[in-house]
Amino acid sequence: MRAISLVLFLGLLVSFLNAGRLSPLSSEVEWKKLHEYHFTITRERFEALLDQVYSVDGGMRAYLRISPESLTLFSDSSKTTPLFSLFFSNEFSSVRPNPHPPRYPENPLREKPLQGLRICLDPGHIGGDFSKLEERFFQMEQNPPVEEAKLNLMTCRIIESQLKAYGAEVVWTKEDEVPVTSLRPSDLRQEALQWIFDLGSTQFLPVETEIVKRANMLFYRTAEIRARAERIQKLKPDLTVCLHYNAGDWGPNPLIPQLVEKSRLVLFITGGFMANELKYDDQKFDLMAQLLEQNNEIELGLSAKISRRMKEIFKMEPEQYKKWGAVVPMKEEPYVYARNLAANRWFVGPTVFVEGPYMNAQDAYYRIIAGDYEGQKEIQGEMVSSIHHDFALSVVEGIVDFYRQTQKPNQETRKFLPTVWNP
Ligand SMILES: [Zn+2]
Repeated sequence: MRAISLVLFLGLLVSFLNAGRLSPLSSEVEWKKLHEYHFTITRERFEALLDQVYSVDGGMRAYLRISPESLTLFSDSSKTTPLFSLFFSNEFSSVRPNPHPPRYPENPLREKPLQGLRICLDPGHIGGDFSKLEERFFQMEQNPPVEEAKLNLMTCRIIESQLKAYGAEVVWTKEDEVPVTSLRPSDLRQEALQWIFDLGSTQFLPVETEIVKRANMLFYRTAEIRARAERIQKLKPDLTVCLHYNAGDWGPNPLIPQLVEKSRLVLFITGGFMANELKYDDQKFDLMAQLLEQNNEIELGLSAKISRRMKEIFKMEPEQYKKWGAVVPMKEEPYVYARNLAANRWFVGPTVFVEGPYMNAQDAYYRIIAGDYEGQKEIQGEMVSSIHHDFALSVVEGIVDFYRQTQKPNQETRKFLPTVWNP
């Protein structure tokens, strides 16, 4: 008991000294990485993206000082500790080309419309030995168990073969049910404790249970997604598709799951950073890095096309959120929201996060436990193809629609740069 009190006290002390600077498992932020973005964006465009997509609740502005020529970002809201400055492009400097412009297929109107594109598949969750720990496993009566990671992987394998048939090169963040991270929950107890104190709440008791729960979350959410982000950084895909099956309300006792009537569909693109997340400097960096990549249009365009195919194939309504600050609806696209999920935040390059039908809904559950199969089968009195096939098809057709129907934007070329420039 005494030992625990001492650990708690030390944790509190460390927490106080580090007062809200970095979120759990973050290493020091390398602000100089953003120097390549000087003069690549106008102030007007920066502010529009900030206010409409990335920081809609205004949280980021508390740390920003914006002038017509530049912005300075501060660690604190009293604006005494500067982290980084960025020059905007303007009529004198014009727009410097984006250092990482999204690539488009060579000839999207030909037979192989995705030729020249490298697409990364990111099947959600780890699965296997970890599916219960990451709370992505359930079983109803004597029916086969439902493990989300397995479903995601199965669907991604079909997506892979279809994308290849359309000429794309396919790479993966992970292709099995083994974690990408080498860390395990037992390695993360200290960080879990730190996290509990950073949250500053006294409601988390008993302490041991709370430490185990948070160490698990740091493992399957934070460490795992960070490891996948590192892989993506090396693979340099032109698009990453994070694929998941969603779930509805589990009912009063999640251990005895109940089926909801209907699935709803949703896709997430990067954005929606909340004020309480932006007190951490690493989250400020992630927002800046994502915004300055300027992938919002391509993420929105791809998600919109995929959502239309999903609506057409599944005939399911969009997800609806009532007054939840973590999601930002994208006007005109009822299935698409901006959200600050770890994958959206850390994956470089255009990323779309697709949530398929609910594993625990009447309209999907029986199709899910039927597994993957060729052709059609009678399920609940209806002839249907495999749900994995339908999900894969909607994602792939949506991607093809986007590249076939979207004009590659013209990169504005640099007209002027200061001759002395030393970032
Ligand atoms: Zn999931």
